Amino acid sequence: MQFNIIRTDSNARACLFETQRGQVKTPAFLPVGTLGTVKAMAPEELEDMGAEMILCNTYHLYLRPGHEVISSLGGIHRFMNWDRPILSDSGGFQVFSLSALRKIEENGVHFKSHLDGSMHFIGPREAMDIQSALGSDIAMVLDDCPPYPSSYEYAQESLKRTTRWALQCKQLKHQEQALFGIIQGSLFQDLRKRSAEEIIDIGFDGYAAGGLSVGEPKEEMHEMIYVTAPLLPHDKPRYLMGIGDLKDVMLGVEAGFDMFDCVMPTRNARNGTLFTSKGKISIKREEFKADRGPLDPECGCYTCKKYSRGYLRHIFLSKEILSMRLNTIHNLYFYLHFFKDMRESIKEGTFHSFKKKWEAIL
Ligand SMILES: [Zn+2]
Repeated sequence: MQFNIIRTDSNARACLFETQRGQVKTPAFLPVGTLGTVKAMAPEELEDMGAEMILCNTYHLYLRPGHEVISSLGGIHRFMNWDRPILSDSGGFQVFSLSALRKIEENGVHFKSHLDGSMHFIGPREAMDIQSALGSDIAMVLDDCPPYPSSYEYAQESLKRTTRWALQCKQLKHQEQALFGIIQGSLFQDLRKRSAEEIIDIGFDGYAAGGLSVGEPKEEMHEMIYVTAPLLPHDKPRYLMGIGDLKDVMLGVEAGFDMFDCVMPTRNARNGTLFTSKGKISIKREEFKADRGPLDPECGCYTCKKYSRGYLRHIFLSKEILSMRLNTIHNLYFYLHFFKDMRESIKEGTFHSFKKKWEAIL
């Protein structure tokens, strides 16, 4: 994996990283394909609108259909018909957030499946084996993601575990896969710093900030974004995990992060909340009933070119399958083009005015 910084504008970076399956321009938005599909979208459609890398969730794919099944069907790329880069998370975050029952031990986590209540175990070895069977291009280390709020003592214990697991993952790293380390430390500045030092000391292909957007107040999240970014190596990709609100994204880019993922554009689309150049709208509103105009006159997506707001409102209220498709096409197109424009602004040295403009709209 090759990583090059193309331009910087203050701390914001426009970078390019090349993988065996193609290049990724940053700042990059990774659409989330939780179960091996970005909901409602065909891979060709994602590619056409400019998606260069997607994220798949190890926890979900491990439980269903199982990594061995995916491996026997040719690996995750072949399985889902996406031949561009895929980043897999380690499963840690879902184990900590979804599983009803979990027991953390020094060598991993026992947890109960949210699907059928069966008991499972994931440790560093399992996380690496599963991700290797999936065959993702970028694997993530297994981390311990402390909830919000966490005491200093708990955050410290969790940090120690995260470092130990990261070291084990590094020792089990597969040659053909890039591996990213994850910085934890909850909302404590000194712990974030310590976590960064320990993880960087182990040495990874890229670095992620984890444990944010877990229910903490926005101001505290923003502070941690600003604290963590400068701690990470300049010459490696920096990934702000699970953050996708566009205002937060701009802040992350301003701090120096390169990669982002979030279910927000796809989930909101299915709920009828759509992003436009004038701000967010709810398509179910009465005012759109007989509106013949496009969803967003400034958008070039298939939905905006072909359908009226009145029609989109009608199929949403009628719960038609096409509504989810058309709304998702629009929201993802909007997100990917937002990122493209943001990258252009960094290359032109106008990121600050880009951010100011969008902060007033969003
Ligand atoms: Zn559109």
